[in-house]
Amino acid sequence: MTPTVFHSVRLEEEKCVGCTTCIKHCPTEAIRVRKGRASIIEERCIDCGECIRTCPHGAKKAVSDPLAMLSAFSYKVALPAPSLYSQFPESTSVDRVLSGLVELGFDEVYEVAEAAELVTEATKRLLEEPGRPRPLISSACPAVVKLLQLRFPSLLGQLVPLLPPMEVAARVVKERLHPGKAGVGVFFITPCAGKVTATRSPLGYERSFLDGVIGIKDLYLPLRGALSQAPSRRLARAGARGIGWGRVEGESGAVGERRSISVDGIGNVIGVLEALENGELKDVDFIEALACPGGCVGGPLTVENPYIAKTRLRHREDAAPPAGEGPRAPLDSLAWTEGLRSRLALALDPDMLKALVMMEEMELIAEGLPGLDCGSCGAPTCRALAEDIVRGKASSSDCVFKLRESVRKLARELIALEELQPPGLDREDKAAKS
Ligand code: SF4
Ligand code: SF4
Repeated sequence: MTPTVFHSVRLEEEKCVGCTTCIKHCPTEAIRVRKGRASIIEERCIDCGECIRTCPHGAKKAVSDPLAMLSAFSYKVALPAPSLYSQFPESTSVDRVLSGLVELGFDEVYEVAEAAELVTEATKRLLEEPGRPRPLISSACPAVVKLLQLRFPSLLGQLVPLLPPMEVAARVVKERLHPGKAGVGVFFITPCAGKVTATRSPLGYERSFLDGVIGIKDLYLPLRGALSQAPSRRLARAGARGIGWGRVEGESGAVGERRSISVDGIGNVIGVLEALENGELKDVDFIEALACPGGCVGGPLTVENPYIAKTRLRHREDAAPPAGEGPRAPLDSLAWTEGLRSRLALALDPDMLKALVMMEEMELIAEGLPGLDCGSCGAPTCRALAEDIVRGKASSSDCVFKLRESVRKLARELIALEELQPPGLDREDKAAKS
């Protein structure tokens, strides 16, 4: 089913068996199983891809744009994410990977790693500014940005207010390299679902300059086929600092901030953000937080094992100069053009008073539930079921234990009823007994 709000992460209903595995792993409790099938609560989904990784039946997928989309443009530019390089063995040079993209039909390539170098420099300048709230939190991972909107709105002011490298790359191509040129189509080659969603619903800027986003998975086989035929051109320009953004510790290493935390995996990210919210990270200046294990190399649209990919990317960095050949045409400003608002999907009601009443009701209901968090009701925890009941989206009989309790009570009442006699007969019966 196509969602009303665009989300790259979708459910393939026919593959879902309602096993409830995914509901336990969703960091925002965005999944429920009802009538034997999972469904995603759109307002809560941050497109982190965790459910794609954990569904044992392959019923969750990330959708990106088809390669066929290229034909709508007369001049096609590929913007490969640095993680693309890590999908191929070291014997396949970055030049060869980029040449393969040209062989596939792109007229030009612009490495997102080059744009990452621009963002690195701008982030360094922000870190030097006195009065900036500390620590600054990287805004490179859209799933993490959305997580903040949903669960940690008090930390939104600490996000790095800069365009992500993919967007910077698209703007460099359209505004600086080919200004006013008709028919230019710019395509990001992505490792993750979150970035597909972020181009449709941008975070911190009004509209994306990208014309399409193609998953590495969808491009991998044709690209592998094209590699052997492609004459190797000298196309790689990005330096180690930009390439490193494809893995965890890459961005913080590039920024050079020693008092930094690099965290990967959405559960670990939540742990660090909770500590930050609780005031435990006063000695930290920068947080690089990435939803996928290993960073972008672990994105759900990649094909290689993230540990292998991370090692390969490190080797690519070793082979590249620290800084690349320098930006071909830097933008004047990389700053966000709009602020980010919190998302109220977790609030029980926009009216504070009403929300408090509902909260009390929810606590009472939760107290009456068994607290086993078994998931058989289709909600991830007993508290989540209590919340669904208060919201009018579930009933206490969805809990098998509550249902059994009700059936027992009903059975007792029936037995008691069965023993009752009409008053007249009741007398006779008593007389007979005496
Ligand atoms: S993990 Fe979720 S999506 Fe996958 S089969 Fe089980 S209930 Fe369905
Ligand atoms: S993508 Fe992430 S937030 Fe969305 S439903 Fe899946 S696990 Fe939950």
